[in-house]
Amino acid sequence: MSIVSCVSCGAKNRVPTAASGLPRCAKCKADLPWLVEGTDRDFDAVAAAKVPVVVDLWAPWCGPCHMVAPVLEKLSRERAGRLKVVKVNVDDNREVQARFGAMSIPTLVLLRDGREVSRQVGALPARELERWVDQHSA
Ligand SMILES: [Zn+2]
Repeated sequence: MSIVSCVSCGAKNRVPTAASGLPRCAKCKADLPWLVEGTDRDFDAVAAAKVPVVVDLWAPWCGPCHMVAPVLEKLSRERAGRLKVVKVNVDDNREVQARFGAMSIPTLVLLRDGREVSRQVGALPARELERWVDQHSA
């Protein structure tokens, strides 16, 4: 569960990490940005969404990861209702890292219906990262 400000009206909303539907603003019903943390324990439920999911495998000590993070935040706002971002700290969640066989970070994995459709290893400039997401989530 996290608190997210509605892009349309600014109302603060509680957004679940996992849900069968899409999070909407309680006040104006606009789609809400959906950026959550996934863990070894809840990853399957969190990654199961009816919109494309970008899994961000990262760690606090990883410099390039900190370049990717704000771009993903921006994408989650701009593509509210069309994209979910799941951040997984691989220091704390080795099982998820092992499952994706991520040898280096950041590793971004794009899932549709729970299946990997594309993967980006290493940081990309913002525009290229946006293009990558759009290419595989349209
Ligand atoms: Zn709203």
